[in-house]
Amino acid sequence: MLKCQTAGLLAKMEVISPFSCPTCRLLFWVEARKRLSKTKNAPGSKLGVNPTSIDTVVVGTGSEVKMKPGQQLHVVNQLYPYTVQFKEDPTGSHGGSKRPRESASEDRENQREAQKTKAAKQTEKVSVPVSHGDATNTSEGVGHWSQGLKTSMQDPKMQVYKDDKVVVIKDKYPKARYHWLVLPWQSIPSLKALREEHCDLVKHMQQVADQMVEQCPDASSLRFRTGYHAIPSMSHVHLHVISQDFDSPCLKNKKHWNSFTTDYFIESHDLFQMLEANGRVTVKEGASELLKLPLRCHVCRKDIPTIPALKEHLKSHFPR
Ligand code: AMP
Ligand code: ZN
Repeated sequence: MLKCQTAGLLAKMEVISPFSCPTCRLLFWVEARKRLSKTKNAPGSKLGVNPTSIDTVVVGTGSEVKMKPGQQLHVVNQLYPYTVQFKEDPTGSHGGSKRPRESASEDRENQREAQKTKAAKQTEKVSVPVSHGDATNTSEGVGHWSQGLKTSMQDPKMQVYKDDKVVVIKDKYPKARYHWLVLPWQSIPSLKALREEHCDLVKHMQQVADQMVEQCPDASSLRFRTGYHAIPSMSHVHLHVISQDFDSPCLKNKKHWNSFTTDYFIESHDLFQMLEANGRVTVKEGASELLKLPLRCHVCRKDIPTIPALKEHLKSHFPR
């Protein structure tokens, strides 16, 4: 188990600089640098007035909290999350779980990123002392490809909008001309973890998604959908905002196609209603079978034999 003696982090924002989203040609305000922080770790003491929290639970002044692998440490009102990184991997394992879908090249990209992130994080200024003993490193811990969104959401180059509750990033492997992901700052690993108390947050995510669509210069000519994958491959709850042209070289296979054009894609509004009514989200059994359905055009419902033929067909619906 890791002992966190971190209270006492002072952080302040640097200059806010304008960031122009190349696809949207819109100006969004994002922070240039989030962590201009001078840290002075004084065990058991907290300097300044900004609350430090672990996975949204505030660490009181003078308190000491034990952190678990994968938990997020936030300084300054949950605006500046840090993920705890082990300096040593007591198990020596690098994770063995397989990614359920996505192309192999996307996997490799993510693995390379994960390695880079891991190396970079080991030299980060904020380090947490590791006590040997009961520390564990799950196969899907920090550095695993499935954690990639947590890295991207902190990256100013990926961010196109943010407020105190959510951040919007560009999807790194966009499956259409416009493809964004809305993520809460709050650490919610998956749809399964959603509860009634998250209703307001989920609604806010939807509102931000709607705003993104409204501000898109091609909103009048393109249709958009906003929703969640029934069985996401990436950790940390994320709402897809995607234009329905599916005109992208990253859309490569049947799984990609069916994940956005069948009931595998759960409309944000439907998810909200489920959460409001039942206090949780349940995914229908057999959802993964939807990914194996034959290719069918989502506009005219025509069956198309292959992905290249489908891409050619889509040009007739969505000329450039
Ligand atoms: P899913 O988990 O199936 O809902 O989808 C995850 C989405 O995240 C996919 O659309 C990927 O293209 C995208 N993605 C994968 N890795 C990253 C990353 N490191 N940064 C941003 N987007 C990513
Ligand atoms: Zn068609």
